[in-house]
Amino acid sequence: MFDLEAIREQFPALHQKVYNKPLVYFDNAATTHKPLAIIERISHYYRCENSNIHRGVHYLSQQATEAFEEARRFAASMINAVKAHEIIFTKGATEAINLAAHSFGRMRMKPGSSILVTAMEHHSNLVPWQQLCLEYNGKLLVTPMDELGQIDLQAYTQLLDQQPVIVAITHTSNALGTINPVKTMIRMAHDRNIPVLVDGAQAIAHTEIDVQDLDCDFFAFSAHKAYGPMGAGLLYGKEKWLEAMPPYQFGGEMVDSVSFDKTTFNVLPFKFEAGTPNVEAVLGMETALRFIRNTGYEAIATHEKELLDYATAQLSQIPGIRFFGQAPEKASVISFLIGDVHPFDLGTLLDKMGIAVRTGHHCAQTVMDFFNIPGTVRASFAVYNTTHEIDTFVAAVKKAALMLS
Ligand code: PMP
Repeated sequence: MFDLEAIREQFPALHQKVYNKPLVYFDNAATTHKPLAIIERISHYYRCENSNIHRGVHYLSQQATEAFEEARRFAASMINAVKAHEIIFTKGATEAINLAAHSFGRMRMKPGSSILVTAMEHHSNLVPWQQLCLEYNGKLLVTPMDELGQIDLQAYTQLLDQQPVIVAITHTSNALGTINPVKTMIRMAHDRNIPVLVDGAQAIAHTEIDVQDLDCDFFAFSAHKAYGPMGAGLLYGKEKWLEAMPPYQFGGEMVDSVSFDKTTFNVLPFKFEAGTPNVEAVLGMETALRFIRNTGYEAIATHEKELLDYATAQLSQIPGIRFFGQAPEKASVISFLIGDVHPFDLGTLLDKMGIAVRTGHHCAQTVMDFFNIPGTVRASFAVYNTTHEIDTFVAAVKKAALMLS
């Protein structure tokens, strides 16, 4: 049973006023709020378990190490990875993608090689690959999209024929909400022996991920967009790739033996986890993933679809509104503009009415260039949002648009 009130009760940050107005938080694609269980998990770690992991003989260190490794096992089970050591903890999706680009990318790139991305990538899944291409005098190939924000699969097929060393695609676009047909795209790439990295930053809070079913080679996400803390995320990689890849960063923990002449490296996953990790955030991430599992992806998706449909229908009635991202397969993200009103001005007025939205290019400048706009106003919904909040939001948008036009 999906009990919205009970869910909202778990999120203390939702129950506050800003500028003396009840907060309406629609900036969930940037980061979600955190349930009490996560806040308490982190607090418990510092009150009772705080200790450096993996290198202590003492009780607390062993407890913390066990909790950290349990978090890895749980993350693996959450996305159905075959082995726990296929999970590399990072500080977020950005670091996970950089790890793959630096390590796997450098292992595969040769002068003139190419890498294939899509036209709707977040800068985090674009710039690392672009820079790698620059380093190797290679070519960044870009799968185009149409006006609705859908990938052009025919163009994708042709670009695959250029044999890029890797395909890097977003599962769900943060700027447009498009949910890409990643399983099909992975199969098409694999038919040509091309590995695929999926940027799952906008997926993990909304839809069940099964890396074996997708058959992706890499999958990246951050905890903080999925009710977890900032400073934790992960890179899933198939064992065969992670085994073959060179370390990404060097230092403590990732080594086996060190002399002045030579260093040998630790086994997976530690080979890729140099230095002291963000232990409390990883433990918080585990609690967040458990929150999602307990709530249930089906219930989350049903509720968020209802919010998306309701908000889209309400906003559609506003004269001069333009939506960016109208793919049939769409997450609970609405990017829009009204007439000539600048998104920043609209966002600022909404803020004064207690409504948190994001304005600007959403770290996807190439998407904004495609539509020839400076940015959009983006409202993104999470499991705890309500249709009542949407009513407040739509009324506020109407009022602000009148004031600004
Ligand atoms: N990819 C996508 C699609 C995103 O939306 C984001 C965050 N906006 C990222 C990657 C990067 O995530 P982080 O900043 O948490 O590393």
